[in-house]
Amino acid sequence: MMKKWFALLLLCCLTATAQDSPLKITEAHKQRAAKIVAKMTIDEKIDFIGGYNDFSIRGIERLGIPEVKMADGPQGVRNNTTSTQFACGVAAASTWNRSLVKDFGAGIGRDCKARGIAIILGPGVNIYRSPLCGRNFEYYGEDPYLASETAKQYVLGVQSQGVAATIKHFATNNQEFDRHHVSSDVDERTLHEIYFPTFRKAVQEAGVAAVMGSYNPVNGVHAAENRYLNIEVLRNLWGFEGMLMSDWNASYSGFGNATGGLDLEMPSGKYMNRTNLKPLLANGVITEADIDLKCQHIIQTCIAMGFYDNPMTDADIALNNPTSARTALNMAREGVVLLKNEKIGKKATLPITKGNILVVGPFADSIPMGGGSGEVHPYYTVTTFKGLRDVYGTKHVKSFSDKDLFENIPITFTAEYFAGTALQGQAVATRTVTKVDWNGKPCELLPDKNFSVRYTGELKADRSGVAQLACGGDDGYRMYVDGKLLVDNWSDHSYEVHTMDIDVEAGQSYHIVFEYYQGRGGAKAQMTAGFHDDSKFDKLMAWADHIVFCGGFDFIIESEGRDRPFALPQTQTDFFNRLAKSGKDMTMVIHSGGGVDFSSWSNNADAILMAWYPGQCGGQAIAEILTGKVVPSGKLPISIERNIEDNPTYNSYKPDNSAVHKRVHYSEGIFTGYRGYDRAGVEPLYPFGFGLSYSTFDYTDLEAIVVGDNRVKVSFTITNTGKYDAAEVAQIYVHDVEASVPRPLKELKAYEKITLKKGESRRVQVELDKEAFAFWDVNTDSFVVEPGEFELLVGGNSASLPLSTTVAL
Ligand code: BGC
Repeated sequence: MMKKWFALLLLCCLTATAQDSPLKITEAHKQRAAKIVAKMTIDEKIDFIGGYNDFSIRGIERLGIPEVKMADGPQGVRNNTTSTQFACGVAAASTWNRSLVKDFGAGIGRDCKARGIAIILGPGVNIYRSPLCGRNFEYYGEDPYLASETAKQYVLGVQSQGVAATIKHFATNNQEFDRHHVSSDVDERTLHEIYFPTFRKAVQEAGVAAVMGSYNPVNGVHAAENRYLNIEVLRNLWGFEGMLMSDWNASYSGFGNATGGLDLEMPSGKYMNRTNLKPLLANGVITEADIDLKCQHIIQTCIAMGFYDNPMTDADIALNNPTSARTALNMAREGVVLLKNEKIGKKATLPITKGNILVVGPFADSIPMGGGSGEVHPYYTVTTFKGLRDVYGTKHVKSFSDKDLFENIPITFTAEYFAGTALQGQAVATRTVTKVDWNGKPCELLPDKNFSVRYTGELKADRSGVAQLACGGDDGYRMYVDGKLLVDNWSDHSYEVHTMDIDVEAGQSYHIVFEYYQGRGGAKAQMTAGFHDDSKFDKLMAWADHIVFCGGFDFIIESEGRDRPFALPQTQTDFFNRLAKSGKDMTMVIHSGGGVDFSSWSNNADAILMAWYPGQCGGQAIAEILTGKVVPSGKLPISIERNIEDNPTYNSYKPDNSAVHKRVHYSEGIFTGYRGYDRAGVEPLYPFGFGLSYSTFDYTDLEAIVVGDNRVKVSFTITNTGKYDAAEVAQIYVHDVEASVPRPLKELKAYEKITLKKGESRRVQVELDKEAFAFWDVNTDSFVVEPGEFELLVGGNSASLPLSTTVAL
């Protein structure tokens, strides 16, 4: 009996279940793994290091090893399921709330556990260089400190539920355009200071169980085969002992994968298979020990996570989990950022406390999300329209879609469908259609990719007036009216739209030609003509006191696999500007994964909320903020530029397409985001860390004491001086006064989110350590602190830092 108890105790020590501290792979885990590897045949080993069933690690029944399932992704459980849709990554970073992000991770962990998912393919942590990257919404913004603190909490939260987190994409997958082929060329110091820290912290401080490589080559070598990344940095420098998997089909050769430090090729052994590896083994190019090491890494991780000893499904956890739903709502409440709230006369536009609200725009009654593997399908959503009706009363909230105000002018088109993008050769089909509005391919005879379509028709209206023509496409589209090219957007891009007004006379024919081609990614096109119905519009306008416009992007425009435009769709900005002519209070709610172009519409906005992709309860949170039930406390994890040309990466974002090997040279180096704006002396429209509250805060009495070993204790007082109980994110930046290398004017090194009652003061204390003062020294290959003076700057955003002091180290 004694023996049995001892064995049980030992098993508990050897395996982990739910744990709150960083995962530790112990000697006992390693030894147990080595024993299993020793029993595997070479064929079993080779099969094991290639994924299985698209999202699994293979089981080996003979050895009692179960299949281990994975799922996407960063903002909820995606694969083949309905699940909690949390706010997206950039919204999580906007909360600046460590414990909430940990709850987010734990919520995902729980949702995984309820579904038998042992490994979640998140967090996604690539640094935001430019607003154009299609996957920014999944990530944590432009600053390595904020991103790494956010990732650490996410990982701790996920792994607290006995589920493995996978930090991705290692490394420098900072754009989506042609992501398999464009090399990110980045110098060593920039990698260590900007692009690596989030991964390093997740490994060293959160014990992340898995790392996923990126699609792109890094300095010319694909991530899956990059020994510098995978062996020198990840294993040798940071001491990572978990498993390294490839991104899906991000591997390019058997030899490269086998020798470049990769453990697991996903979603299958396309290159690391018996056919490719056995000759390499036979010729001594690789050894069995190389394969053993990969199996060892995978198995020791699974053992440490408890996958081989504990059930990977917990049927007692609700699938539609109320705790997860509450966390999703709280994330939206704290992640939405109030960017503008101007005073009209004497009062600010928000919160709205009286009058009628008209909610309009494409996302008035839907909750958009970003596209690709980060998509999550929730059980329910609360839209802004619904949320406002719930919190403000149905009587005072109405909505309409711009289509409601549009009287369609029917056109019969001849559609010619061509294989190839050039509208050339014999059409594969010619048909008559009365509608151009499709997503996917418009004719079954077309190939899935690279096709083109020409629509020819006559527009004939039965009355005279101003007609609106609208057309859009993913990718190229153009429109001719009576032979004149009026819209020309003939290039590869995600979904974009154009509208224009033309004068039409009753009974007269206008010859319309609308052409489209599919180049990369999705396929979608639309072309409509119609009159505005002004009487309906005028009635609604007379009723409304406030107009809330919910605009931005969605999974069609902002998605994995492609980059997106900076400008909001022109149909939205035109409509917004038209509504603004009414003189009513105008609030813009933007859904996007990053900065957008404010230039053509923001002067007409009295209030602006950056709502990101706020998840299933986003509309409730937006409604609560609009009406003052919740005081906004989100702060930007990015800088938003006035013009795209101001972005520090503007000249180093797009690769030279004509080159054989496409490369992006990160010439801005460490000066990305606010570091770059500071250096160039360019003021962004909204600075990093910015976000308004309905309250106001005062910062006073900064004190900094050096406590030895490059450690400094910083303390200051914050007072809530406004009329609302509210939360403030205090930010602490460091500036090296004199350095032997170029250093940023300031870098975020600590932050605290503090909730204060109106009138309340609190003393805040943080401790800065070596990391706050160090830079990566390429001569010693290490972080060093140069003795001298450091300035400490404290305040509510990167451009408003009222307190400062200097310490000598
Ligand atoms: C994405 C990964 C994702 C994987 C599996 C890839 O396209 O880049 O982030 O985890 O697919 O869906």
